Amino acid sequence: MARDFSDKIRSKVRSGALPIPRELPTKQFVGRGTNRACDGCDELITPEQIESETDLDGRTLRFHAVCLAEYYGILSDGHAPTLLTMQLVKQSPLCGACISAASGIDVGDIERAAIRIEPTIALNRDIALCKGCGRWTLVYSILGPRKK
Ligand SMILES: [Zn+2]
Ligand SMILES: [Zn+2]
Repeated sequence: MARDFSDKIRSKVRSGALPIPRELPTKQFVGRGTNRACDGCDELITPEQIESETDLDGRTLRFHAVCLAEYYGILSDGHAPTLLTMQLVKQSPLCGACISAASGIDVGDIERAAIRIEPTIALNRDIALCKGCGRWTLVYSILGPRKK
């Protein structure tokens, strides 16, 4: 069953029915469902379920929490380096768990994404306080564009 909504969201991203945003959404509202259709799987989001509403490319989209996670996961397949950069520009230093929670990048993909942006952007890995969760752990931050 899980594959069904995943495939549906994937094909919507491919067809353009769901936007591939250039920037991460800045606003997101989470609440109880109001029996409106999910923009991911097209099923109703009932009051027993969690609804995530987000503004993307000037549109307001509604998702089941799992569908939104899936959507971000699909977006981050090819956009993880961009998402990572944007997240760290918005807030840093951040640990892997906080980067993942905010951007939808799998924790396991963060280091790979970091390696991909390093030729153009100087990154710092440090043991320090994470701005997100306040834990003392391995955190990432952006030092700035790499100078030639
Ligand atoms: Zn859904
Ligand atoms: Zn953190």
